[in-house]
Amino acid sequence: MDEFCTPADLDFDQQHLWHPYTSLLNPLPCYAVERAEGVTLELTDGRQLIDGMSSWWAAIHGYNHPTLNQALLTQSQRMSHVMFGGITHKSAIELGRRLVAMTPDNLDAVFLADSGSVSVEVAIKMALQYQVSRDQAHKNQLLTIRGGYHGDTFAAMSVCDPVNGMHGLFQGVLPKHWFAEPPQLTPNDPWDPSDIADFRTLIESKHQSLAAVILEPIVQGAGGMRFYHPQYLTEVRALCDRFDVLLICDEIATGFGRTGALFACEHAGIKPDIMCVGKALSGGYMTLAATLATRQIANTIGQGLGGGALMHGPTFMGNPLACAVACASLDIVATGAWQAQVASISAQLEVELAPCRDLSSVADVRVFGAIGVVEMKQALNVANAQKLLVERGVWIRPFGKLLYVMPPYIISAQQLSQLTAAMFELASSEV
Ligand SMILES: *Cc1c(COP(=O)(O)O)cnc(C)c1O
Repeated sequence: MDEFCTPADLDFDQQHLWHPYTSLLNPLPCYAVERAEGVTLELTDGRQLIDGMSSWWAAIHGYNHPTLNQALLTQSQRMSHVMFGGITHKSAIELGRRLVAMTPDNLDAVFLADSGSVSVEVAIKMALQYQVSRDQAHKNQLLTIRGGYHGDTFAAMSVCDPVNGMHGLFQGVLPKHWFAEPPQLTPNDPWDPSDIADFRTLIESKHQSLAAVILEPIVQGAGGMRFYHPQYLTEVRALCDRFDVLLICDEIATGFGRTGALFACEHAGIKPDIMCVGKALSGGYMTLAATLATRQIANTIGQGLGGGALMHGPTFMGNPLACAVACASLDIVATGAWQAQVASISAQLEVELAPCRDLSSVADVRVFGAIGVVEMKQALNVANAQKLLVERGVWIRPFGKLLYVMPPYIISAQQLSQLTAAMFELASSEV
């Protein structure tokens, strides 16, 4: 195998490999990355790009991290994988310990899943099995809010925003759930109870058929990069309790410090009944996620119909390499260094993205934690935008009208300025 990508390799890639959400008939250009170090990605021609995406929220500690590398190496010399059925191992146990300790204190049952979407499937399955087990089988639907994103598998897709999630394409196959109007108030607005009115009406009228509410706490990520008022989440928690509906918080994008709290549900001071984590869980090294539930849910399922087993068990469940590197990543998170890092990224994004507000092409600029968003009035041409950004030495992947960054926590002030300068230049080049 050649060390570097050749033009023939790129040609093969374009003809044969699907990339996320792409067409093989009209493939979009792809940049070959040869190595990554700290906050930079290195292309085949030696160009260095400052990474604004953390490889989709995941690489929070940066690339080629010595501690994470060592954890993988050590684990691979013991065993890279072993089945989890009837077998256990130290890395899974240690990961379980860390997750139980760091997540809200009511959560203490852990299911190790192999991707975020799978952890959402498992969360939904837990909620449905919980209701069946307590003889409430009629409570088998979900309530969520528009503008959400929960993954690409079918159950997860059925609670994604119906428009963004292209529900029309899969009509008749996707189960039907309930969608409340999205919250309009941002974390900075004064609270107004009318923001939750539509959600309240739906849960009041549908609770007898609802197993659970599922939502992304405070930050709606891939569905639109919107931030909503913590009081909305507080009210959702209270309504779920009142109407005997479980609350699933999908913290796959927000977990492990990104929003300035370890988990975004802490901004509202609430605890979910079920929580999904993924993305940054392994520091961006391996595909891994987890679903956590309360003891009461675990016990109810355990005493329930069907012998009490939670009906899920992927082949690569609890993969030792992924668990080992996740333990090492969570140990870095546990040092608490992220708090100052996220706070300073946030402050700098506020200052440096503010000038974008004055551009006629820009509809909105918003910052929450280490997430900075410039929303354009018109959708960006991804290929053209990408080209300009790469020429400016940054890796930022625009999405529709959204130009946004969520950089690794270790980014320097100077590197972050390069990201924001490129965002301003791109935004001002659009008319
Ligand atoms: C990315 C994401 C998922 C899906 O995770 P995958 O690992 O891509 O399957 C689910 N929920 C949220 C909030 C996400 O951001």
